[in-house]
Amino acid sequence: MNAHVYLDNLNPAQRRAVSHGGDAEPAPPVLIIAGAGSGKTNTLAHRVAHLLVCGADPRRILLMTFSRRAASEMRRRVERIARKVMGDQAGVAVDALNWAGTFHGVGARLLRDLAEQIGLDPAFTIHDREDAADLMNLVRHELGFSKTETRFPTKGTCLSIYSRCVNAEQPIEQVLGLSYPWCIGWADELKQLFAAYVEAKQQQNVLDYDDLLLYWAQAMTDADLAADIGSRFDHIMVDEYQDTNRLQSSILLALKPDGRGLTVVGDDAQSIYSFRAATVRNILDFPLAFSPPAEVITLDQNYRSTQAILSAANAVIDLAAERFTKNLWTDRAAGAAPELVNVRDEADQASFIAETVLENREAGTTLKQQAVLFRASHHSGPLEVELTRRNIPFVKFGGLKFLDAAHVKDLLALLRFVENPRDRVSAFRVMQLLPGVGPTSAQRVIEHLAQAPDGAEALREAPAPARAGSDWVSFVETVEELRSGRSGWPAEIERARLWYEPQLERIHEDATTRQADLLQLEQIAGGYPSRERFLTELTLDPPDATSDQAGVPHLDEDYLILSTIHSAKGQEWKSVFVMNVVDGCIPIDLGAGSKDEIEEERRLLYVAMTRAKDDLHLMVPQRFFTHGQSSIGDRHVYAARTRFIPNNLLKHFGNRAWPQVAPQAGRPASTGPKIDVRAKMRGMWR
Ligand code: ATP
Ligand code: MG
Repeated sequence: MNAHVYLDNLNPAQRRAVSHGGDAEPAPPVLIIAGAGSGKTNTLAHRVAHLLVCGADPRRILLMTFSRRAASEMRRRVERIARKVMGDQAGVAVDALNWAGTFHGVGARLLRDLAEQIGLDPAFTIHDREDAADLMNLVRHELGFSKTETRFPTKGTCLSIYSRCVNAEQPIEQVLGLSYPWCIGWADELKQLFAAYVEAKQQQNVLDYDDLLLYWAQAMTDADLAADIGSRFDHIMVDEYQDTNRLQSSILLALKPDGRGLTVVGDDAQSIYSFRAATVRNILDFPLAFSPPAEVITLDQNYRSTQAILSAANAVIDLAAERFTKNLWTDRAAGAAPELVNVRDEADQASFIAETVLENREAGTTLKQQAVLFRASHHSGPLEVELTRRNIPFVKFGGLKFLDAAHVKDLLALLRFVENPRDRVSAFRVMQLLPGVGPTSAQRVIEHLAQAPDGAEALREAPAPARAGSDWVSFVETVEELRSGRSGWPAEIERARLWYEPQLERIHEDATTRQADLLQLEQIAGGYPSRERFLTELTLDPPDATSDQAGVPHLDEDYLILSTIHSAKGQEWKSVFVMNVVDGCIPIDLGAGSKDEIEEERRLLYVAMTRAKDDLHLMVPQRFFTHGQSSIGDRHVYAARTRFIPNNLLKHFGNRAWPQVAPQAGRPASTGPKIDVRAKMRGMWR
């Protein structure tokens, strides 16, 4: 038997990529740049398996993917492949493959490991975007920059600007000029604000998402530390490299300056994260970062989609301003042309999808093999209602997270405060849950804590808010008990919930459904080894929202996937529906988009279309609700098919109207009015 049987399943270019360098030794750098569905991720999984088979130490392999879900999927694939040669040993090896995750997740772990050496308190907590915006807001108020009449940028805008400066490694003037021209007049105030924001984070021992990369990158500027971190890994693999930003690439290059052991994979035609400062230059410039340059391997056979879907997707991306060099082909059968489905409005769009999904299931395609994709999370609202009405279970990826619910955030704030007494945003939130505690008294306690040498002890001595009475005492006791670790993990989350429930009942009318969420949270917590890991990982990569109030459906249950296009990256389904394929949605903004932004929207449509294996429906409602995402505000607008599918591409698509208006029996259809003027008039005001 061939020692590497799994290679037989690959085409020659894939095989070359997998066995690049020959054995388990770190090889010179290699870049796999190839189109959608050409097997990049699959090749990467084979490469990891191959290294394991050749005897590489799994603990010294760093695998970076775009989500934690992608990382676990990758580990599963690696195990499946390696098993063919290693048998049960494959499971052991993959269990030891524990450096697999996102850049941010890996960063958090390394920073905790290295905390002492880089002057960080290892008990730091991590702020998600919402917490970060809250802190930004607090600081903004303190500096007096929030007077409404001055039209100072909102907390969200401030955070976006800050984040872009950090991730793109660009000075603020440049960021404002390029992306926030209306804020240029505030450059000085913003600098002051950001300085105070950084100060506040440090005082409170919190890191935001950006800090996880920023601190890591900073650590890498120290030669000894960089060598120490780099030498922990023999092999470093990155999937979806086209969506990394400058900070991430600088970290990667600092980990392995000579490139040995680096395998980087991506597709420039699928670059869709420039709004988060990702830059496609990273992947294009990768080969020349080394001398001699990295080997470049391209793959051109698509194994995912039917010829009809592939031709349509190729036609869409061919109209891009940039030239992407890849020309994908497939030997899969032609299949049905992707369909443009014209519907009246979003309600009809939802019914069409629900009905077709059920028809597909009747015909043998499970719900899990079908997905509905949309531009923005809130677009799926009407569909979620329709699915619920028809009892079609679904899971929503990348949407409004379970963790964004107020009550879940409350309980997490308590745990975070326990973990890190100096975390002001959490302290502020949790204290105000108590009856009789408002912002002023909470503030007083927080200031006391900030000045105390040991935050943990200080709570007992803090000025108790006068009106809180015994509630305050029980709060202090709860925090102390949780901090002491007496209850142990995960039992302590139950303890925390028991404290929180009376507050919940006081604050919310629908306490019962909310309690179910808390139980769900408790169950999720049980899957983590410690409070710290639970808080870190939950903040970095929250579980997906579901149709089921009680939480995630059981894994063996069948459910439809709802996902933003961004979160659908790298995945595939037999049947795919893309919602609102209209101007004003894809591309999202009619007027305000710059040329580059419009081009990114084209790639987004390309990403959406290339998720489909067998069936693709592009939904074209005649009217849709703008949800205030565009410059036209919040209203129903009449929509036109996306500009990315102009008339000369229509030959690649089927076209149908739904519901079909059946000609009335017994009468020739031509006797009706040619145009129903009255209906049109009514429609204008609807
Ligand atoms: P994307 O750009 O969307 O991330 P990708 O290039 O990473 O796509 P994969 O997801 O790795 O592509 O593969 C797409 C599909 O093709 C998967 O179902 C995979 O199993 C299959 N595939 C890849 N290579 C081969 C091969 N040599 N033979 C048969 N099937 C293959
Ligand atoms: Mg992939």
